[in-house]
Amino acid sequence: WIWGAGAAFVALLLMITSMSIISQWRHRQQILTMQKTFISTVSHELRTPLTVILGALDILHSGIGGALNSDTQRLVSVANNNGQRLKRLIDDILDIEKLESGQLTFQWQQVQLKLLLEQAVTANQPYATHVGVSLVYDPQRLDTPGVSNSSAPIEDGDLVEVDPERFAQVMANLISNACKHSPQGGCVEVSARRVDSHWLEVSVNDHGRGIPHQFQPRVFDRFAQADGSDQRRTGGTGLGLAITKALVEEMRGTIGFHSEPPNGSCFWFRLPRITHTSFTHH
Ligand code: ADP
Repeated sequence: WIWGAGAAFVALLLMITSMSIISQWRHRQQILTMQKTFISTVSHELRTPLTVILGALDILHSGIGGALNSDTQRLVSVANNNGQRLKRLIDDILDIEKLESGQLTFQWQQVQLKLLLEQAVTANQPYATHVGVSLVYDPQRLDTPGVSNSSAPIEDGDLVEVDPERFAQVMANLISNACKHSPQGGCVEVSARRVDSHWLEVSVNDHGRGIPHQFQPRVFDRFAQADGSDQRRTGGTGLGLAITKALVEEMRGTIGFHSEPPNGSCFWFRLPRITHTSFTHH
């Protein structure tokens, strides 16, 4: 009976331990859910007054209410820039929260990859010019370091199935990062290629400082930034690449990068190549 009692005691001990682990886990999940709900509610509540503030600043800036002297003009600009920065942060937090909870809706369309890339380059051209970088779309470029060893450029018939708005968001994030980290007068190249008959690859290449090796494993983490002081200057949130990765994966793709500091960085992503006969569903 001693053996029996021993076994019962061990079983009881195991039961108590597992119950306590489960209750701790439940507690942590509850706290996480509360945290997420709190962040999302606060973000929503901040967005409305912020939109009103930015609207008012816009009116002031336009001079409708009377011409501003140069000092006031400068203050309005500072307020506007910081307001825009706050709005980006709020939008990013809301996006990531929706992506995680599967609430972000996608308007799926089959579109020519070439067309999407041309649109992305045109849309981001003003920003590149503003920061003194030349942005080029080079569909034939195949020698970028770190991308697939492919010699096949994309063709007109190469389609991808994406939400064009979300695709544009991915491109805007990668292009703005590349521009932000480029030297004045530098060049950012957007290009694409066929990896094989199933995958198409897009890359955004810059000639900036590159990404420090010790930071590389955390590049896609939320709120991760290699250099805090640098980001204060460029106004980033550290959420852009986390969102970009989630969006690419939602579009059934993969994303990665190659960076050998100080020789710039190349971010790439791959999406399934759609042919007219492909059967797709979501
Ligand atoms: P943000 O740009 O808002 O800080 P991201 O998630 O887009 O956030 O990027 C995270 C970090 O990765 C950046 O802060 C920067 O340190 C690094 N990074 C991203 N893209 C590049 C790039 N092209 N060159 C160098 N560093 C980069």
